[in-house]
Amino acid sequence: MPVLLPRSEASSRRLAGTEVTGLVNEVSADTYRQALEDLTAHPTRHSFSSAYRDAARMSADRFAALGYATREEPVAVGGRKTLNIVADKPGTAPEDERRLVYVVAHLDSINQAGGVNAPAPGADDNASGAAGVLEIARVLAAAVIRHDLRLVLFGGEEQGLHGSRIHVADLSDADRSRIIMIVNMDMIGRLNTAAPSVLLEGATVSQHVIDALAQAAHDTSDLEVFVSLEPFASDHVSFIDAGLPAVLTIEGEDQLNTDEHTPRDTLAGLEVSVAISILRMNTAAVVAMLGASA
Ligand SMILES: [Zn+2]
Repeated sequence: MPVLLPRSEASSRRLAGTEVTGLVNEVSADTYRQALEDLTAHPTRHSFSSAYRDAARMSADRFAALGYATREEPVAVGGRKTLNIVADKPGTAPEDERRLVYVVAHLDSINQAGGVNAPAPGADDNASGAAGVLEIARVLAAAVIRHDLRLVLFGGEEQGLHGSRIHVADLSDADRSRIIMIVNMDMIGRLNTAAPSVLLEGATVSQHVIDALAQAAHDTSDLEVFVSLEPFASDHVSFIDAGLPAVLTIEGEDQLNTDEHTPRDTLAGLEVSVAISILRMNTAAVVAMLGASA
């Protein structure tokens, strides 16, 4: 059961520094909304559809154009194939000191009642999170970062977290041991509560990430913050199951959103200001963890 975190509990130690504030203020509702439109312009992003591959390659082209080292990661689901997009930006710290920070979202959508090619705009679930990864990629493209940043858009999430399971299974021991934070965004664009709110869902292994995100929320937004240590049903679980410090960031009371996995999950249902608040929080926490400057 999610618990509301009182503002006072998180406000004793502020993250704020001019670097953090400067980059947070570059998060733009205009470019975010454009990315949402571009992603939902595909009739579906079902993991096994050609439209999914189109959306994945469009996203890969954007990461590459921003200067990220970008690759496709094949994902087998039973006898079928989908893919992840992975984009890396190296930090400037000496290699043996460099930690690794992840920002991830699933790119695929689903129409639960239909087939592979049934309409599945997936605006909230999860164009909202995938566009968030693209926006954070844009904001951090020119920043100088001490630690390494890795952005991943996963396929096969709606079939059972396949993209993230395979990604985590294929991690090298060296990368596995230097991961300090994984931020997952899944459904960040709907207002289901009277006041805008966010749920931070993690586990004991990710308590420090929850703390950093809660601090960032209170420093950079008016979001109410709920916390849960019962992770389920999105890609952060694949990391947590491997002992890695992942947290899901998701709109508050997401269970009240009854349009997920239906053709009704359209842009019309989104409240972009909620997503922007969550993106400001995530950007602040990621920038602080990366040791970034503009
Ligand atoms: Zn989702």
